Order: sequence, then C-alpha cells, then structure tokens
Amino acid sequence: MLSQNISSKLAKSSWIRAMFEEGEKLRKRYGADNVYDFSLGNPDYEPPTEVKGALKKYACGNDLGLHRYMSNAGYPDVREKIAKKMNEEGNLSLTSNNIIMTSGAAGGLNVVLKAILNPDDEVVVLAPFFVEYLFYIENHGGKPVTVPTDVTTFEPSLETLEQSITAKCKAIIINSPNNPTGVIYSEEKLRQLATLLESKEKQFSSKILVISDEPYSKIVYDNAKIPNILKIFKHSVIVNSYSKSLAIPGERIGYIAVNPAIENAELLINGLIFSHRTLGFVNAPALFQKIVGDALDAAVNTDEYKRRRDYLYNHLIELGYSCVKPQGAFYLFPKTFIPDDIEFTKRALKYNLLLVPGSGFGCPGFVRIAYCVDFATIKNSIPAFEKLAGEFRQ
Ligand code: PLP
Repeated sequence: MLSQNISSKLAKSSWIRAMFEEGEKLRKRYGADNVYDFSLGNPDYEPPTEVKGALKKYACGNDLGLHRYMSNAGYPDVREKIAKKMNEEGNLSLTSNNIIMTSGAAGGLNVVLKAILNPDDEVVVLAPFFVEYLFYIENHGGKPVTVPTDVTTFEPSLETLEQSITAKCKAIIINSPNNPTGVIYSEEKLRQLATLLESKEKQFSSKILVISDEPYSKIVYDNAKIPNILKIFKHSVIVNSYSKSLAIPGERIGYIAVNPAIENAELLINGLIFSHRTLGFVNAPALFQKIVGDALDAAVNTDEYKRRRDYLYNHLIELGYSCVKPQGAFYLFPKTFIPDDIEFTKRALKYNLLLVPGSGFGCPGFVRIAYCVDFATIKNSIPAFEKLAGEFRQ
C-alpha cells in the first residue's frame, strides 16, 4: 500500500525517534533513573498559570459558538491581539489580516511552502537544521538545498550562501534561536544576508522569501535580543508557535505573520489561507486560539532552562568537550571527539547516555543534547559524560 516515496523516507526518517526507542530498551534494563536521555526536544515544563486559567475560563464559560468552524485564518480578535503585540514589541504596522493562526510552527511551515512552491523550486536550509524541513519542502514539490553554517559560530556563512543561491531559489528557512545549536543569529549577520538576497533577486529577477521559523523566540538567556526579521527582510514571513513558549506542544497552536512590506501581500495572504484550508487544517484549534489570545504576555520561566544550560555547558567544557555557548532554545551541540558522530553516539550508549548524532541535522561531527529534562538527570549524567570523554583521551 505504501508509496515508494514514503517507504524510502521511513527508512531514514529520524535519528531522534531511533534514539528514543533505544532509550526505552535501556530504561527497561537499567531503570529510568540510570538512563540519561537527552534525545527529545519535548519541554518538561508545565504551562504558565495564565494558560491554565484561560483553559478553565473557556471550558466553563458560556461563549456560545466557540467550537464551530470559523474563518480559515482563525478568530479575528485573536489575530488582532497578536498583531497588536507584535507592533508594540517591534514597532511594526501589522493588522489582523497579516496573521494566520496555524497548527503549530510545523503546520505554518507546510502552509507557507505549499503556497509558494512551484515544482523543483529550491529552498535553502542552513545546516545544522531541524530535520523535518527537508520533508516539509519535499511535501510541496520543492528541492531542499542544504548550506553549511560556519561551524565555529553556527551563524550563516555568506560566502557559502553566495555560491548556493541559484535562479531557482524561492525561499530560505532561517531558525534562530536554533534547533539544534541554540545559537541566535546576530543582527549584523542577518543584515548582510539581506544584502546578499537583494543582490541575488536583482541578478535573477526573482523574489526570495525569508521564512523565519521562531518557535524558540521566548527561550533566550542573558538578555539576548532576537533581531526583528520583518524589519530586516522585505520579503519575509515569521512562523511562530506557542509549543515552547507556553509549553503546550501537544495543543498544536501557532501563527504565520506576513510582512506588510511585501508587494501585493494580500495575494500571498489569500494563498496562505487557501493552503491552510486545503491542506486539511481548515482552521487552527479553536479553543487554544482563544487561550493563547488571553495569555500573550505569559511565557515559561526560562531561569530553570538557564540553570541547566550553565551547569551542563560548564561541566562539558571542564571535561574537554568543545561547544558554542548557546543563547537560546534548550539544546547544546558539542563537537564529537571523533569525526564519526554516529560511532560516538553508539559509544555514549555504553554509559546510558542518549544523544542525537549531528548527521541527523545535516552536520556530522557533532551531537545534540536536549536539556529539557529534570536537573537531577543532568547532574547525574556528568560522570557518564566524563567516562565517554575518557575513551578519547590519549
Ligand atoms: N521548528 C523547529 C526548529 C522546531 O524545533 C520545532 C519543534 O521542535 C518545530 C518547528 C515544530 O514546532 P511546533 O510544535 O510548533 O509545530
């Protein structure tokens, strides 16, 4: 029954999943407390009280019609609130028309790609990347073009991009704070990227859409600032979600914000709404649109994530690992002591350490550590990281 396309994708679909299954085996054998599973990016936080309060309010209230079909773009009042908040934060001029509510960032990315791609259009992704991008691009007939970042900083490499953007390039996906590196792209680098994209657009008489995937925008440390994409790139959309900022990934809620500076933005918006409908989402989950609309000023407290980042990062550096210090998200992406990250990950399993090889993110020679696990696990894992490092010491 299965198509050749899906059969072949199943075979290489997910290192993260493979690691999770490996973890299940280890947990059965050694007990959950003795397994250090850093494989999944699933927040272990509970949603803020504002979310729980709004959930109660709407569940017990008399808001008649709340659960019906609605405009495919979502509830106008919620879209209005999001636009207003983005305008206040970024000095922008969005209206509710620029906002389309989606089923998380994953839903939003698929909607954007469906709306813009012609067969064989190219979409640039910067490695390391969230692996689902490749599948999403191919879902809509596009061709992913993976371009490595500068691995000393994990920021985009302008020189490499310059050589990789062709006349067929329709979009570039950027993700900052980044999964898997936790790096936030600097405003200076993004401005250089904007100049490069403009010159490519001129050269090819084309338009290149910047799709900024920002589910970690509220998980930042040390007062780091996220540059405002809609101000830097004229042809841009932001895809955001509340999965991480409100710790509700299971509820599938997010939005697309379309830059009003795009010529004929209304046509693009209509295409996005049509794609949202015909992909079968119809509209984003009704109840959670209302809930996030009431909880726009709330976010998970990142102090605990920061405590974990600092503890793990400092210990890994002491043990001889090298790693770019992340300013956001909840991942570390250290270098493996040997070039073969898959072999390294297998060796880590000996110490009940579950890491995801960088190859799964298009960046061999590194591993991803997702530290959205309780502090005790992190603390108890340090001897395992030490033994692992010891295998490679002269
Ligand atoms: N983009 C990135 C970079 C992610 O890490 C994730 C989830 O982990 C997503 C998108 C999908 O998020 P959502 O739950 O909002 O669909």
